[in-house]
Amino acid sequence: MALVGDSYDYVDPRFYRLTVPTAEVERLFDGCRWAEGPVWFNDGGYLVWSDIPNRRMLRWLPDQGVSVFRADSSFANGHTRDRQGRLVSCEHGTRRVTRTEPDGSITVLADRHDGRRLNSPNDVVVKSDGSIWFTDPTYGIMSDYEGHRGEPEQSGCFVYRIDPATGAVSIAADDFAMPNGLAFSPDERLLYVADSGLSHDPAGPHHIRAFEVGSDGKLAGGRVVVEVSPGVPDGIRCDIEGNIWSSAQDGVHCYTPEGTLLGKIRVPEMVANLTFGGPKRNRLFITATRSLYSVFVATSGVQAP
Ligand code: MG
Repeated sequence: MALVGDSYDYVDPRFYRLTVPTAEVERLFDGCRWAEGPVWFNDGGYLVWSDIPNRRMLRWLPDQGVSVFRADSSFANGHTRDRQGRLVSCEHGTRRVTRTEPDGSITVLADRHDGRRLNSPNDVVVKSDGSIWFTDPTYGIMSDYEGHRGEPEQSGCFVYRIDPATGAVSIAADDFAMPNGLAFSPDERLLYVADSGLSHDPAGPHHIRAFEVGSDGKLAGGRVVVEVSPGVPDGIRCDIEGNIWSSAQDGVHCYTPEGTLLGKIRVPEMVANLTFGGPKRNRLFITATRSLYSVFVATSGVQAP
């Protein structure tokens, strides 16, 4: 374990209450090419994440270190778990969203919309009603590095919802450059969606938007809550008080629900994603370029299970 000193940038005094000033950022592993999609398994006490270009998923267990969780991941990117604890994954290589069943078999949840293939599902969240929401930018079909080069078949990069009763895949919102990370507010009335379009367009967005979640499965509103800089928001998470924790080029940023920057946790590599884990969900696991980092915080994550 390597400790990374000088970890905090306190922009607002409220950030002291959300962090543990004596807790340092720890590097847990550094053998990835592009680390993404951390997901915590509290029942097993381990973290799983993606190493996209190496087409594998890794697992970190305290005291036991890192092992290969899945050797051929189909260039998997973001993950979450549904209310039954099953792993739900976005796969670039197969351009689909899948669920891993308890026996290890894989069920395809979405690979098309309107008869045409998805772009390359990127990140995914599950609402308490069982609906599954995912983003579909083109990162995984732009080259053969994080997937297979291919042509978009959809007319844009959308946020989709998978209906829990019928399995139908519908567009929930369609006005994005590159929709990326998603996170529900604690009461699930809002869905935050990151747009990381700046990554491939100097004039592109680098912000997080807040959508009102309609009972009909549609998203409304979509006001920009915060522009993340430097870099782009990729993965995002909410804590139990509704604060938004976002990846950025220089680390993890923490914003109030209104978008005020409270502070930063500095990470020495560009951060792609994060999740709250550990038995009390008070430990941030951060995937950042080659490495997996973690740091204990003074709040806990809202994401269930
Ligand atoms: Mg992402």
